[in-house]
Amino acid sequence: MGLLKSKIVVAPMGEIEFPMITRLAAEIGPVFNRSVDILKGMQLPTEAHNVVRNQYYALVILAKLERTKSNPREKVIAVCEEDLYLPDENYILGHADVLSGTAVVSLYHFRQEFYGLPEDDSKIYPRLFKETAHQVGHLFNLSECRNPKCVNYFSQMMLDIDNKQDRFCDICRRQLTGMV
Ligand SMILES: [Zn+2]
Repeated sequence: MGLLKSKIVVAPMGEIEFPMITRLAAEIGPVFNRSVDILKGMQLPTEAHNVVRNQYYALVILAKLERTKSNPREKVIAVCEEDLYLPDENYILGHADVLSGTAVVSLYHFRQEFYGLPEDDSKIYPRLFKETAHQVGHLFNLSECRNPKCVNYFSQMMLDIDNKQDRFCDICRRQLTGMV
């Protein structure tokens, strides 16, 4: 059955530290029992930039990602540094669209500097990993989890994201193993 499984594709977007991407790709695959490809770096779509908000509109980024897919079953997730938004939200850490199989995660709010705190690289990767697992979980049809320890728990605040574990709870894991 291995050949029939959809791949996860990680897409570095804009200026992104490549070692972080390769680590993410290596560690996210086993979580979903999928192989992972890394795309060559791509630019953020300029039409996603909202000059007034000085943020990027996540849905325009997802539309660009959808056009990079080599087959419809791939799950593509972009990682960028830029601040993202949806019209009803001041900002988002990430967003996923199940139908198109695309998602994006931003490092913007994961950086301690954003909160006026000293730089702390050790904080960034765990946050990126958890948010990526959460968004890719959506792509595999998981809905939000109410268990604050589960990686699939909705966390907009850094305290919440830091407090949750980097793995799925038993309920979410059972849902994941039930899917194709
Ligand atoms: Zn859960």
